[in-house]
Amino acid sequence: MPPPSATGEHARPPSVDSLAQSLAGSGLPHGLLVDAARAAIAAGDPAGAAERAAAMERSLLRPVINATGVLLHTNLGRAPLGTAALGGTGGGTAALRYSNLEFDTERGTRGDRHAHAGRLLARLCGAEAALVVNNCAAAVTLVLGALAAGRGVAVSRGELVEIGGGFRVPEIVAQSGARLVEVGTTNRTRRQDYAAAVETGDVALCLRVHQSNYRIVGFTEAPAVGELVDLGVPLVVDIGSGLLDEACQWLAGGPPQWLRGEPAARQTLAAGADLVTFSGDKLLGGPQAGVIAGSAESVARCARHPLARAFRAGGLVLETLQSLALTYLHRRGDEIPFWRMATTPVAELRARAAALDIGEVCDMAATTGGGTLPGVEIPSAGIVLDGDRAAELRDHDVPVVARVTEQRTFLDLRTVDPADDGIVAAAARRACAGDAAG
Ligand SMILES: *Cc1c(COP(=O)(O)O)cnc(C)c1O
Repeated sequence: MPPPSATGEHARPPSVDSLAQSLAGSGLPHGLLVDAARAAIAAGDPAGAAERAAAMERSLLRPVINATGVLLHTNLGRAPLGTAALGGTGGGTAALRYSNLEFDTERGTRGDRHAHAGRLLARLCGAEAALVVNNCAAAVTLVLGALAAGRGVAVSRGELVEIGGGFRVPEIVAQSGARLVEVGTTNRTRRQDYAAAVETGDVALCLRVHQSNYRIVGFTEAPAVGELVDLGVPLVVDIGSGLLDEACQWLAGGPPQWLRGEPAARQTLAAGADLVTFSGDKLLGGPQAGVIAGSAESVARCARHPLARAFRAGGLVLETLQSLALTYLHRRGDEIPFWRMATTPVAELRARAAALDIGEVCDMAATTGGGTLPGVEIPSAGIVLDGDRAAELRDHDVPVVARVTEQRTFLDLRTVDPADDGIVAAAARRACAGDAAG
């Protein structure tokens, strides 16, 4: 590639096309380089075209190193997706081929896109059937629309909550066409409250919503799932976080202590819930998705609803979820990035921090984040740099996102892939070197 022509010396600016050509090394498509060149010339700054192209490149989706210690960081895409989750089942690149997404290869007829990942996820939580949609908000909306439109949905006043990003239970109920029937009080709700609502009103189902991102403590009471399954209407439990099974058979060391009390799909269904709903990208550790799992009849009613078509997950997501489900079934939790990061021993993190050879090795507290397990801390370790280095770290080639408290910058290694430690060290060194150089 020819170098950029000497743009500053003559009054006559280079042509848009030749300026765009000179930027070809960036790897951006020609059309975007033309945009950058045109904008630079229009601004009377042709020499700035390369920087404009670089800024455009930086604004695209690209890898970021999460050194915040928040495992499911909503701004950074929640659950990390690794090659293990994207590997497919039988070789080949996951994305670059046709698939039997909706084709029955045996009969040569149209198939069902829920027959693959959906079936495996159902198996994992002990459900008769499962359906995959775009996120958990869609899952809840679809369930209520399919099972309760025009009728009442009984929800405890302690669970009429907002789960971040506009998922507000009363609004979701209204949007689905169902009618909210509030039961109990903010802090205490009993079985009889639900029973009274079912007896007196036209209630289609009871809905429990997991307190994913908040806790009500003190003088509180809520019935167990098992107490609500014989009221004569189905019980739907929005567990949200997506823990499949309390026993965590996919983890060699069993369930980690910090997970205690988190409701799981398998146990909730085993206790008698008709359906559970949960996210794909929280504790499940997969792509953004929502899962509806439970009785075959109710799942089929959801699948038949017109919204099911509008909310259905695409092939890329279903392939990734299928691969993830197989990994769970193989009990290879260490191949699921979220679980591998969440269960790395602290001693290992300390050793990695020491090997970075910059800053001060320090114990820290990581969190699961992403609107899960509020207040729960996972012992962790990393390095601390003096001063607020956040901007310099973000400005690194691969941006590194850190946490700053009281003029100290914390890089938590629990959320960093060990393969990226070298990048973290280089970014930290560069961030601190700027200091010495003035
Ligand atoms: C996170 C969460 C949701 C929303 O899930 P999305 O996948 O982000 O739409 C709904 N309900 C509960 C209980 C949650 O924890």
